[in-house]
Amino acid sequence: MINFVLQGHTYAMDVQTAIQIFFPNKHYYNVEEMPKEGVSVKSVLTESRAEAYFYQNGELKAEGFAKRKENADEKEIKHIVKEAVFKALYSFTGYMPKWGMITGVRPAKTASELSQEGYSDSKILEYFENRFYVSHQKALLALNVSKAEREILLTNSPLDVSLYIGIPFCPTRCLYCSFTSYPIDKYSKKADEYINKLAEELTFVSNKIKGRRLRSVYIGGGTPTSLNDGQFAKLMENVSEIFDLENIDEFTVEAGRPDTITKAKLEAMKKAGVNRISVNPQTMNQKTLDIIGRRHSVEDIKKAFYMAKEEGFKNINMDIILGLPQESAADVENTMREIAKLAPESLTVHTLAVKRASRLKENIFSYDLTAAEEMENMINISSYYAGKMGLAPYYMYRQKAMIGNFENVGYCKKGMESLYNVEIMEEKQSIIATGAGGATKLYNPDKNQLVRVFNVKSVDDYLSRFDEMIERKETALSSNKW
Ligand code: SF4
Repeated sequence: MINFVLQGHTYAMDVQTAIQIFFPNKHYYNVEEMPKEGVSVKSVLTESRAEAYFYQNGELKAEGFAKRKENADEKEIKHIVKEAVFKALYSFTGYMPKWGMITGVRPAKTASELSQEGYSDSKILEYFENRFYVSHQKALLALNVSKAEREILLTNSPLDVSLYIGIPFCPTRCLYCSFTSYPIDKYSKKADEYINKLAEELTFVSNKIKGRRLRSVYIGGGTPTSLNDGQFAKLMENVSEIFDLENIDEFTVEAGRPDTITKAKLEAMKKAGVNRISVNPQTMNQKTLDIIGRRHSVEDIKKAFYMAKEEGFKNINMDIILGLPQESAADVENTMREIAKLAPESLTVHTLAVKRASRLKENIFSYDLTAAEEMENMINISSYYAGKMGLAPYYMYRQKAMIGNFENVGYCKKGMESLYNVEIMEEKQSIIATGAGGATKLYNPDKNQLVRVFNVKSVDDYLSRFDEMIERKETALSSNKW
């Protein structure tokens, strides 16, 4: 538990996010009085500067200050409040986070925006390094990813749209999962109803996007391939009957869990025109697969990968997670060596995030989480192997509650970039999301603005409140310029 007191301002969230950089996954309380015990921070704003004081059991351990410019606006004031806390905690811990005090989820998007405002590459690096204390290596990563993303965005046309289809079922629940996902063995009957309702929503969307080009389709979840062969084939048929897929550039299916991949499902995907799939090991170490609750073996991963290759898939992505319980840098090295032998066209490297709705969060004290320095080693190993495999970073995002405040990076071979992944990060194209938990983003290019429309979250609500949800979508699609 960490308490903090504010004096001279009310920017509690900014103070808390700065504390979270150094002390993630704690409980944070904004209190009136400095407690005599435990760990606490006092954040003060005066006419000339922001100050921060870090206490342990009432004893002052470190302090940090940031100068207040004349006529500073609210954004700048929040920045210095956060900066002072950041400095005090850096001074106490001696640890400089690689992303400095950046807490936003899309640093590459920030780099793109700065570039559009006329910043040169060196000015962008300076902005990250001097204003936010970001390391040169990470500033460069943000800049390079923003360039790769921009190449893709330049191919966008104003009337392009992407489609997301959510299938919220999985064989078991992974330890770290916070997504809406239901065990397929209990929900198999409901999955039939779900597929039928989904077809109705897809038909509605298809009518609404007439006159536009559907550029990419992404079926995710959950694990879409948790559906049985018949259900999955039905889903694929529905999508190809409802939409004109002739001119789309990308059709992805997350075949995430290797134990759900069958030849019949791969054939159904091929028939529908799927040209990118994910086979996600998360780790190539059996002991970890067992700990995180995935009921499959390392061999299953390899078998599924080769089966997809044999079926003719030429763009296979593999996801891994760094910092899984009881994994060391040596385990990550083993994972990367095994993945390098498979040589997928894309690799997505996540760093573990302890999400609120996960079993991991519930039982956080039963696991030794990876220290930031070790996570840094793991990241370096993964990026070294990605380079050796001929993969370059092309998209990136960060999440709250990531261990060490690091990032998730998508690597791929040149020309194999996932359009959908870039669009979802850069938010420069409308993405219509269908299925339970779908979050539609309508992009207005004239105003450079996004309007979000949310589907209901649970499968039961999706089935019972379908009409109400479609009405909401209808209103948003008709009343907003997108
Ligand atoms: S496969 Fe993904 S969605 Fe399914 S339980 Fe694991 S983390 Fe959650």
